[in-house]
Amino acid sequence: MDHRFRQQRLQSKLKHSGLDALLITYLPNVRYLCGFTGSAAALLISERRSVFLTDGRYTAQARAEVQASRLIITRKASLLAVAEWLRENARRFGVHGKWTLGIEAEHLTVADRERLAKSLPASVCLRVLPPWIENARMLKDADELKHIRAAVLLGSQLFGVVLKSIRPGVRESEIAAELEYAARKAGAESMSFETIIASGPRSALPHGRASTAPISSRGFVVCDFGVILAGYCSDMTRTVHVGRPTTEARRIYEAVREAQQAAVAAVTPGVSLGEVDGTARKVLKRNGLGRYFTHSTGHGVGLEIHEAPRIAAGQTEVLKPGMVITIEPGVYIPGKCGLRIEDMVVVTDRGCEVLTPTSKEMVAI
Ligand code: ZN
Ligand code: ZN
Repeated sequence: MDHRFRQQRLQSKLKHSGLDALLITYLPNVRYLCGFTGSAAALLISERRSVFLTDGRYTAQARAEVQASRLIITRKASLLAVAEWLRENARRFGVHGKWTLGIEAEHLTVADRERLAKSLPASVCLRVLPPWIENARMLKDADELKHIRAAVLLGSQLFGVVLKSIRPGVRESEIAAELEYAARKAGAESMSFETIIASGPRSALPHGRASTAPISSRGFVVCDFGVILAGYCSDMTRTVHVGRPTTEARRIYEAVREAQQAAVAAVTPGVSLGEVDGTARKVLKRNGLGRYFTHSTGHGVGLEIHEAPRIAAGQTEVLKPGMVITIEPGVYIPGKCGLRIEDMVVVTDRGCEVLTPTSKEMVAI
């Protein structure tokens, strides 16, 4: 990972931004910029300097992991330590007099902001930093893609464990347990999010976390899960059918599959995110199922399971090569049934590559 390059790109934006320095406290952003994977950190970046602050618990880890930054081990909680360090080292850091510090408004609590403002000199102005880091993180480099591919592949292999475990009467949580045990044994750092195994009427809950409910003797089971490898997440959904599917169940499944494939086919550089969403929605509408598709079509995936961009109605931003997104339309008929099919895809120069290798044919168990 080229952390120095990532920081330099950020530093070059400072010049005409009205910001003199940045305070990065959101851990996925800290990790992206300097490689640190611990749970307490602050990164201070000015046009010429980069300083990483953490406390004594992380001395060895920070020495091993932090790249392209000067390391400071502090005794205080990190925001107070940041203020103290800035008070004493402003000149060396390249800021003085009246200056402006960019903060991550999305990730700093109101209390944190107040604490920071109180402990910094009155001449320091706090301002919200634009989504520079989130925008950079949307475009994955070769190293990131390698990790994402590995995570997606492991996720796909683990779907075999899910298929083997699904039987009428088995609790959803037992299936999740088998999956998660196998994931850890295979080297996953953790799951990307709480595993969703939703059977029978629960399949109509778009986020039906595995519960103690038993798998119904007939109907859909939505299986949505992912693993984390080297910090990068995977995310996939397959919906299987227990028992012989009715004609109606088959029809709904095929409509969702068609919507998913149409949206994947629409993924090309220059196409807007809203258009991709609209493509999936159009297919479901044509099948009389439009009102049952109640969430957006997809999201970016990387160091976080949900990150920019959002593939949703009205999003005018366009796809760019290097974006890794999910395509996951679904249909949820309250009290009856639901299903979703989700792949991860990477936008290429000419279109996209589907990363998830698992078949989307209807599986009846
Ligand atoms: Zn998912
Ligand atoms: Zn997803």
